[in-house]
Amino acid sequence: MKLEKYSFGVGDRFGHQGKAQLEAMLEAKKKGIHIIPVWNKSNREHSIIGTVPADTRSEADAAVKAMKWQGPYHVDADHINLGNVEKFVNVSDFFTIDVADAIGKPCTTDSLEQFVRFCKKYAGKLSIEGIDRSFKVTDDTIRAIGTQYLHAVEEAAVIYRHLVDVKGKDAFITEVSMDETNSPQTPLEMFFILAAMAMKEISAQTIAPKFTGRFNKGVDYVGDVSKFEVEFNEDVAVIAFAVKEFGLPQNLKLSIHSGSDKFSIYKPINKALKRFGCGLHVKTAGTTWLEEVIGLASAGGEGLTIAKDVYAHAFEKRQALCEPYATVIDIDPAKLPALQVVNEWSADEFANALRHVPGHPAYNPSLRQLIHVGYKVAAQMGKRYTDALKTYEPTIAECVRENIFNRHILPIFA
Ligand SMILES: [Zn+2]
Repeated sequence: MKLEKYSFGVGDRFGHQGKAQLEAMLEAKKKGIHIIPVWNKSNREHSIIGTVPADTRSEADAAVKAMKWQGPYHVDADHINLGNVEKFVNVSDFFTIDVADAIGKPCTTDSLEQFVRFCKKYAGKLSIEGIDRSFKVTDDTIRAIGTQYLHAVEEAAVIYRHLVDVKGKDAFITEVSMDETNSPQTPLEMFFILAAMAMKEISAQTIAPKFTGRFNKGVDYVGDVSKFEVEFNEDVAVIAFAVKEFGLPQNLKLSIHSGSDKFSIYKPINKALKRFGCGLHVKTAGTTWLEEVIGLASAGGEGLTIAKDVYAHAFEKRQALCEPYATVIDIDPAKLPALQVVNEWSADEFANALRHVPGHPAYNPSLRQLIHVGYKVAAQMGKRYTDALKTYEPTIAECVRENIFNRHILPIFA
């Protein structure tokens, strides 16, 4: 199973927006931009919402049927590990093997030395086509990178081989992710991580490194965009080089776990896609959930009341909701509006505060991040929330489509 050049991960927490998301891809297709949808949902999202992986498959199949989507599409078991892969095996055909937690854990001396021998030919002055500078590599450089990452790759290999056993070698797409960690992987580290993946015979088609800068949930990139651009371009060059050197899959590409809406890095990414002709997978999750709340608010009436209740409950439980996301959010408590203030808001006032339009005077990134991590609150509303998704479907669907198409697809891929 081969992943197309451009693919877009559409997370959909409550599983109601598949058609609207697909509409954005169909619109792109009309403009000559061919993007394959991948519905991703992690084990954590499933357990918070109370859904199972089969629900994501049903949603994707139903959306594809309803919209008469002709191209390929996939269902991604997002951020899985050995402990939870089993639940996803039958219904997913895309597996994001997350080994961030295994980074820095020790591997055996034997496997480390095997890795050093495998990479020995790259010791010395390493030049990579497409990168102006060269890298000084010694056995110790390789050993240090192996010490940091080899165990993580070994863990990925165990999960990968398990999937090969149960599904068959060509029956699924593999992504390896290391993004949920604090220190970014340098392009040189990524080269040797890919070497380790080749040594362990992991046939991955996408790799999701941790990039430089902060990827806070639901809001723009925080960091040095020019530094990101250099790193991203070097990563692209490293992948092309590693594919040739190690015989990795020809279509191996970068995957960006955007944490939604990293608008300021979309421009350098777009430039890189044009300059190098490389592929890309972009994974979003929360952006669609936020559009659901914006759509509910915009609809007014009971929709607006529900949106306000989501905020009120999220505000009350903010400490507990934020805790698991502490490293990927940056909320200024002083900027969170008081409940009495929000209760007075009109539909437009609520939508404008939440909608991610940088520079809009009403846009409030702190409120947006809180609601981003607050989907548990909507899950707890149960039928009241999901019924409202049906009642206000036209307004919500338009928000979801417009957001994915105008704010993500066009800037990245057009
Ligand atoms: Zn991720």
